[in-house]
Amino acid sequence: MHDCIVIGGGLIGMMTARELCLAGYKAAVLESKAVGSECSWAGGGILSPLYPWRESDALSELTLWSQRSYPDLAGQLHDATGIDPEWQRCGMKILATDEQDRALVWATNHNIPIEVSSSDDALWLPDIAQIRNPVLITALRKYMEQIGVEIHEYTTVERLRICNHQVEAIETTRGEFASEVTVMANGAWGAGLLPDLDIKPVRGQMICYQGTPGYLRHILLKNSIYIIPRRDGHILVGSTVEEVGFDNGTTEAAKTSLTEAAEDILPGINQFPVVGHWSGLRPATQTGLPYICRHPEINGLYLNIGHHRNGILLAPGSARLLADIILERETAVPSAPFQFQPESI
Ligand SMILES: Cc1cc2nc3c(=O)[nH]c(=O)nc-3n(C[C@H](O)[C@H](O)[C@H](O)COP(=O)(O)OP(=O)(O)OC[C@H]3O[C@@H](n4cnc5c(N)ncnc54)[C@H](O)[C@@H]3O)c2cc1C
Repeated sequence: MHDCIVIGGGLIGMMTARELCLAGYKAAVLESKAVGSECSWAGGGILSPLYPWRESDALSELTLWSQRSYPDLAGQLHDATGIDPEWQRCGMKILATDEQDRALVWATNHNIPIEVSSSDDALWLPDIAQIRNPVLITALRKYMEQIGVEIHEYTTVERLRICNHQVEAIETTRGEFASEVTVMANGAWGAGLLPDLDIKPVRGQMICYQGTPGYLRHILLKNSIYIIPRRDGHILVGSTVEEVGFDNGTTEAAKTSLTEAAEDILPGINQFPVVGHWSGLRPATQTGLPYICRHPEINGLYLNIGHHRNGILLAPGSARLLADIILERETAVPSAPFQFQPESI
């Protein structure tokens, strides 16, 4: 019997298992594929909402907590595993926005450095950082093994057997598991196990250019399309927002629109070849906020799910918040906004 089983080995599930293991729990992750191979791999790794002043106070608090914790997390993983997840404060320049006033009020309220360019009204946020999420996943996987989290890959949870408002067993393609605490962190697939969950997949496509190191040093954002430079010269451009169910393919139309947007934002980028094109399924909730909570009707069941466009950013804070709830500690940020209310209540 485990103390805790996490369903879904994306960044949210991996970070949750890490947090509980560090608190002394015997934790296991059940993942249908390889850990981190779905949305958490596909993301861009910007450690900020795209237009942070548009977000609710609740999301801002979770954001700020996560942002503060990222340098230590990246350093800890690097030291322990020898793998550098490439956390870097590269800054983000936001072009063609008319929301300067709102952005300045938000930045003042949260003590965030911000500048408005006198020449083009662009906003410059020098403290915004990025992480190379596929490398973060590799480092995290190795770290989880080091601290003793059990990782069961290619193990699909088919059903939660609920009896007397309690999770009695977790039925998988590789047998049954039982645990005091079950955490659902299976992203866009959440409703497959718990039909009450109002989570839907939202596809995002991204392309990648083979640029040169230093060609672009900061993130650029214009009309919700962003360009992210990696240290090794790769330049990512994303992303689409599409409701196409569980289809995680790529389309020529998206590639065309992303290359056109990239050339508009960064003229000259077309000297580089496009070397990658992929998609991921973001888990979106109806409220726009993730569910990070105890399930109100099923004892022992917890949710850490529905992070939509911000799951890489929010992974540390969400894992910490859920661990605080499970361990009945004072929570790092207020938990009330992240409750789930099933329709049956
Ligand atoms: C193009 C794109 C760009 C993005 N850019 C950013 C960004 O810059 N910054 C940011 O913060 N966020 C970004 N995001 C969003 C971010 O990637 C997601 O919010 C985050 O990855 C969600 O993590 P997750 O662990 O919940 O989901 P996932 O990574 O999808 O993990 C869920 C896991 O559950 C597994 N699973 C599903 N069903 C079962 C089952 N029944 N049994 C066992 N396992 C199961 C899946 O195989 C999967 O591995 C982006 C997303 C996309 C698509």
